[in-house]
Amino acid sequence: MNPSTGVQSTLTRGPLDDAKAQLAQAVDLLGVSDGVHAMLATPRREMAVAVPLRRDDGSIAVYEGFRVQHNFSRGPAKGGLRFSTAVDLDEVRALAMWMTWKCALVDVPYGGAKGGVALEPREHSTAELERVTRRYTAEILPIIGPEVDIPAPDMGTDEQTMAWIMDTYSVSRGHTVPGVVTGKPISLGGSLGRASATSRGVAHVALMAMKSRGIDPTTATAAVQGFGKVGRGAARFLAEAGVRVQAVSDVDGAIWLEEGIDIARLGEHSDATGSVAGFDSCEPIEPGSLLTLPVDVLVPAAVEGVLTEHNAPQVQASIVVEGANGPTTQAADAILADRGILVVPDILANAGGVIVSYFEWVQSNQAYQWRESEVNDRLAERMTNAWHAVVEQAGARGITYREAATALAVSRVIEAHELRGLYP
Ligand code: GLU
Repeated sequence: MNPSTGVQSTLTRGPLDDAKAQLAQAVDLLGVSDGVHAMLATPRREMAVAVPLRRDDGSIAVYEGFRVQHNFSRGPAKGGLRFSTAVDLDEVRALAMWMTWKCALVDVPYGGAKGGVALEPREHSTAELERVTRRYTAEILPIIGPEVDIPAPDMGTDEQTMAWIMDTYSVSRGHTVPGVVTGKPISLGGSLGRASATSRGVAHVALMAMKSRGIDPTTATAAVQGFGKVGRGAARFLAEAGVRVQAVSDVDGAIWLEEGIDIARLGEHSDATGSVAGFDSCEPIEPGSLLTLPVDVLVPAAVEGVLTEHNAPQVQASIVVEGANGPTTQAADAILADRGILVVPDILANAGGVIVSYFEWVQSNQAYQWRESEVNDRLAERMTNAWHAVVEQAGARGITYREAATALAVSRVIEAHELRGLYP
């Protein structure tokens, strides 16, 4: 909202507006009552905490932390924990709502949640990150647990963060509770295949989308925005399938190479220098221009709101696969749909992570480890089933894949809610 005009500009709309607009579309399509709509639009539980940190130099800094549990109708709340300066309550609310739909769409028995701490992890030592993670965990301790709400990695957090959360929670309970988090190190009960699961799922659906559009992966080109947990693996799996990944970016820069970038070697370069920038014979390009390159497949795998009404008219890819959560604003979504560009929505495209999180939770709760091939096969099966369900729904109703995916997910959450009934 612009305070001087009182007008809600599309430029100042955030992810929560997009998430709510998507829910409203699904509600219209399904003919849901206003009361149920209001329940689905409102998080069941929210916690805002101050996270004081003793810095290495002895000074104290205080960060804002949040955990939002959007829905529990289908099971415990589930979702990642994000460390980023962009974190605020509305962003976490949007991300939590998307987790509810994602879990329902791929049919894992969870509701949705998300957490965040508003800090820049790159500005902190490992010791500071450990203290901030433990203090945040201690603050939200009353509302997490393997049967309540199970955090996982997201932007700015990793398996080490999960190990600290698991330890802090376990110490408070007096016994080790591996099922309180997923995305843990393998040696602490993490699942084989979890680290690459989101990327693997992105590549699965990208290949299914290419097939549906008659695009041969071995002659196809792609651009991937983001070279973190999602983008890096997605670029690698696409390259392994024969796709020429011509452009990649991260927060520090973007690079382009006509004949396709050697992703394995780019990974080594990024590990050594901290960025994709400056890699080999690649040309540096303006990061924003990556989104409008003439490629077959565009994978935004960084942050929310990067495809807007301003750049959507220039997108040249015929397929957009949303590796990130919420990379396309509502306005951009309508433009891409009008232009016949196939958008594979985030709640389908990046669901591989939470699918294998579910497998990890099952394994942790049973103190048993599956083989990696078993994990990958079951992941592929769930991604494929969800893909076909979305394609079928979109075809039957004549709607976009996002509308179809959201409507399917919302209808499953409503079914669970109606079967359980409203207490009291
Ligand atoms: N942070 C990931 C997501 O946005 C994974 C969540 C999870 O595994 O719980 O889907």
